[in-house]
Amino acid sequence: MKTSLILTCAGKGERAGFGKNKLLVEMQNGKTVLEQTLFAFIDSGKIDEYIVTASAEDFEQIKTLLPEFCKIVLGGGTRTASVKNALKAVSGDVVLIHDGARPYVTNNLIADCVNTANEKGGCVPALPCRDTVMESGGDVAGKYLGKSGLYAVQTPQAFKTELIIDAYARAGEKTFNDDGEVYQRYIGDLYLVDGDVNNIKLTFRQDFDGLAQVRFGTGFDCHKLVENRKLILGGILIPHEKGLLGHSDADVLTHAIMDAILSALALRDIGYHFPDNDNAFKDADSIELLKKVLELIKDKGYKVQSISASIMAEKPKLKGHIPAITDKLSNVLGLSPEMVGISATTLEGLGFVGREEGICTHATATLIRI
Ligand code: MG
Repeated sequence: MKTSLILTCAGKGERAGFGKNKLLVEMQNGKTVLEQTLFAFIDSGKIDEYIVTASAEDFEQIKTLLPEFCKIVLGGGTRTASVKNALKAVSGDVVLIHDGARPYVTNNLIADCVNTANEKGGCVPALPCRDTVMESGGDVAGKYLGKSGLYAVQTPQAFKTELIIDAYARAGEKTFNDDGEVYQRYIGDLYLVDGDVNNIKLTFRQDFDGLAQVRFGTGFDCHKLVENRKLILGGILIPHEKGLLGHSDADVLTHAIMDAILSALALRDIGYHFPDNDNAFKDADSIELLKKVLELIKDKGYKVQSISASIMAEKPKLKGHIPAITDKLSNVLGLSPEMVGISATTLEGLGFVGREEGICTHATATLIRI
């Protein structure tokens, strides 16, 4: 059995708002969405023939992205017209038709589609609706359709080639939602395979932002040790004859942690958000500022997953204070204590830290999507 793939890349993807075909946008790994999707099929080892549709506008650029063994055909004005054109180039017994904007297709899904189409004639991946579905023309709700017995249809959609060519020939100039609907209308039973929740179609701009599910950040801070100031680390008052000098409470540990969290989302630093010439932050409790930072990242759709920080101080000895600091910070961060790793070290008498003139902290933060 020979298996062909039609990858539909002739759309404009205007809803993503890039001002160009969204399939030509680079993902984190430096590959375009189109390449990532295509290589998911190439790496599966299930496909013998590749046909990619492209609009006249993107034709030359898409051509440069494709390996030599891929055919490229001009798309039509609609998806239906594009697939109809591409089907003329298919020589396989079974053909899979897939959206160029679904880069997370898995080997299992590809194999399920190939096997089911070969056995039954035609199939689509379907996912039971998680959300209740309703009709609406705009601001006001229309008819509720429910969710029980309703499915979201994905791609790849797979067919015996002769059957889907026959279906499209009978469809004439009519347009359809997808290839499965054309098949069902003119050929017969369209079988379902289990869809994959990760096999999303990148449609809106936030789908592209969401490509980064985990973010890392680092932060550093240093404050001078002086007399007549409190020493506060991670919100805990540490008994010592000196304390840290600063506009706020100079909590050098919490400051480095905040910078690490902000940096993970490229949200600048605490000096930017809480300027040290602003009286609102004079003697500020840094733990309260940390809570504000957590609100900022929440607005961006992220939360902290773990923190790791290293305090550099010659004196006082911090060993006995680490559990209280960890408890306090994990509480504020909404994490279990084992996700907050705090270590302390001296600098063996070296440099300004060694001379007990100051305390430094380095911190890293891992953030995940909410
Ligand atoms: Mg600071």
